[in-house]
Amino acid sequence: VPGWGAEYFKASDDGHMLVSPKGEGGPTLDLYALTEQLTAAGLRAPLLFRFLPIVGHRIAKLNAAFAAAIERFEYTGQYAGVFPVKANHDKSLIDAVLEYGAPHDFGLEVGSKAELVMVMARLAGTGRRGVNLVCNGFKDAEYMELVLHCRELGMNAMVVMEQYSELDLLLSAARRLGVRPSIGIRAKLTTRHAGHWGSTSGDKAKFGLRAREIVAAVNALADEGMLDCLNLLHFHVGSQITNIRMVKEVMREASFLYAELVQMGAAMRFIDCGGGLAVDYDGSFTDSHASMSYTLQHYANDVVSAVQEVCIQRGIAPPTIITESGRALASHASVLVFDVLTTLECLHEKRVEQEEVVESIEIRDDKPLTKQLRAAARSGKGKFLLMTFKEVFDNITADAFALREAYNDASYFKDEGVRAFKLGVLSLEERAQVDMMFDAACERIREVAREADLPLPDALRPDAVPHTKMYHVNLSVFRSAVDSWAIQQLFPIVPIHRLEEEPTVPATLADLTCDSDGKVDRFINPRGGDPLPALPLHPLRLGEKYYLAVFLTGVYQEVMGSIHNMFGSLNTVVVREAGGSQAGAGLSVEPAVVQGCAPAPVGEAPQLHLMTDDASSASSASLAALEGGMEADSADTASHAPASSAAIAAAAAAAA
Ligand code: PLP
Repeated sequence: VPGWGAEYFKASDDGHMLVSPKGEGGPTLDLYALTEQLTAAGLRAPLLFRFLPIVGHRIAKLNAAFAAAIERFEYTGQYAGVFPVKANHDKSLIDAVLEYGAPHDFGLEVGSKAELVMVMARLAGTGRRGVNLVCNGFKDAEYMELVLHCRELGMNAMVVMEQYSELDLLLSAARRLGVRPSIGIRAKLTTRHAGHWGSTSGDKAKFGLRAREIVAAVNALADEGMLDCLNLLHFHVGSQITNIRMVKEVMREASFLYAELVQMGAAMRFIDCGGGLAVDYDGSFTDSHASMSYTLQHYANDVVSAVQEVCIQRGIAPPTIITESGRALASHASVLVFDVLTTLECLHEKRVEQEEVVESIEIRDDKPLTKQLRAAARSGKGKFLLMTFKEVFDNITADAFALREAYNDASYFKDEGVRAFKLGVLSLEERAQVDMMFDAACERIREVAREADLPLPDALRPDAVPHTKMYHVNLSVFRSAVDSWAIQQLFPIVPIHRLEEEPTVPATLADLTCDSDGKVDRFINPRGGDPLPALPLHPLRLGEKYYLAVFLTGVYQEVMGSIHNMFGSLNTVVVREAGGSQAGAGLSVEPAVVQGCAPAPVGEAPQLHLMTDDASSASSASLAALEGGMEADSADTASHAPASSAAIAAAAAAAA
C-alpha cells in the first residue's frame, strides 16, 4: 500500500483502508465506515467512489513538478497541460479538471468528433473557453468544421493532422468557412516504447506523419500562405511508459523535429508530448509493466531539459510545453468497493464425512494386502480404488520423499477414478468417495509435513493454484476492471477492513457474469516479480459483509467497460470539497449530505461534502433504459432516489 497508495491510501491501525483525497496532511476518510454508512442509507454495493479532490491534487502536483523543472533549467517557456477526455468522460471529473486546472491554464484533449462536441458544450458553459483544446483522432470534414467553429467561438482549438490526407480536408473547410485554423502535426517518431502500448510509436504506428509527409505538409501550407497557422508539434509514444530512458530518447527526437519546423518557417508555439506518464500499480517502483521507475519530477525535468537544450542549440524561442497525461492524473481518483457473496466450499472441508469414509475402508491385518486387493478388484473397481487409496493414506510417513510420492500416488488414483467413471464402472457415490480419499490424503500429507517441519509437495503449497478458494464477488470484471481481463493489467485489490487480522485464505475472485473469463486470478506480488495466482483474504464470517476494493481504476476502465450480461452503471459516490476547489486550506466545515437517501453522518472528516448519485447497478440502468432509451448520465442524476423494484415494475408495466 505505501507504494501504490501514493499519498491517498493507507491502512489504519484498526485495519481499515483510509483515503486522503487531498493528499498527505489533508482530511482522511475511513473507506469502510463510509461504505457501511452509505449502505445503511440505502446504497447497495458495488460502490464507485469518485474522489475529485484527488484529481485536483494530481493536477497541482504535475504543475508543481513542471514549475520546479522550469525554474531549475531556467526555461523561459511555459507548461500548460491538457487532460485527454477519453481517459474518463464522466462529467463531474471533466468539470473537476477544468475547475482545479483553472489556475494552471490546464486544458483538454479530444480524440473524436463526439468528444469534441461534448467538450465544446462544456467549455461554452464554464467561461473557460480560452483554454488549450487539442483535437486529435481520425477526422472527417464535419470534425474539421467543428474545430473551426470552436475558433469562431473564441476557443483555442488546435487541430492535429494525424494523417497527411487530413490536410486537404482542413484546408477546404477553412476556405469554405473563411476561418484560419491553428494546426498541429502529429509526428510518427522512430523511438519505440517497449510496453503494452508500444505499438502507438515507431514507423508502423497507426497515427502520425513520417518525415517526408511532414515536409510535404509544411510545403503545402507554405503554398497556401498558411505557415503561420502551423503552431504545434504533437507526438504520443504510448501509455504507461515505465522507464524514464524512453522519455529522454523521445524528447530528443521530438525537440529536434520541433526546431526543424521553426527553421522551415512555421509559426511554432507548442510542443505537445502526449500521454504516457505512468502509474505505479504494483507499488514496486520498478520498470515492470505495472509500475514505473521514475518520479513525476524526473519526468518533468527530462521533458523540460530536452526542449531547453535543443532550443539553446538551435537558437530558437522555447515553446509552451503541453502534456496529455490521463492515467497519471485520474487513476487514483476512482475506487470501486464491492462485497464478497459466497465462496466455493470444497468438500475436503467436510472433515467428519471424509473421516468416516477413510475409517470405513477396512484393510485386515490377518490377510496379505495383495490378496485383499485382488478380492476387491473382483468385487468392483470402486472398492479396489478405495483400498489402494487407503494404502497410500496409511503409508504417509514423515519423510519429504515419501510425502511427494504419496501425493503423486493419490493424484494418480484420483485420475484413475475419473477414468473409471467415464468407462461406467464407477458409480457417482464411489467417485465421490475417491474424491474424499484424495482430499483426506492431502490433508494428512500437510499435517505430517507441518508436524515434522518438512517441505510440502509443490502442488500442496498454500500459494499453489489447486488450493485457492474462489470468492464470488459482487462485480463484473468486464464492467469495472476490464483491463484486468483484456490486457492482464494488475490493479491493487485489498480488503477495506479486517486488515489488522492475518488473511489466511488464498483466494481468486469470480465475478457475477456468466463468463468463465469473468475472474481475477493474477494479483500484485508485494515482493515484486511474477503476479500471484491468489490473493490472501480473510475467511468469511457468518452474517457479516466482507468488502474489498479495486484501486486506481479512474482511467479507461469506466469508458472501456462493457455491459456484458447487462450489468449496468454502478452506484456512484462523488466526494468533493465543501467550499469548491478554490477554497484552499481553510475549508468550510459542512455536514455531510447524502442526497437521494436519508441524510447520514459520514466519516470523521466533515470537511468533505458527499453527494451520491444512484445510477444504480442493473436495476436503475434498466429503469433509465426503459424511461429514456439510454443510460443515465451518472453525474447528472445526483438527486435520483434509489430505484426500487416497485418503480422498475411500474416502469416495465408502463413500457409494456
Ligand atoms: N494522448 C493520446 C493521443 C493518447 O492516445 C493517449 C492514450 O493512450 C493519451 C494522450 C493518454 O495517455 P496516458 O493515459 O498514458 O497519459
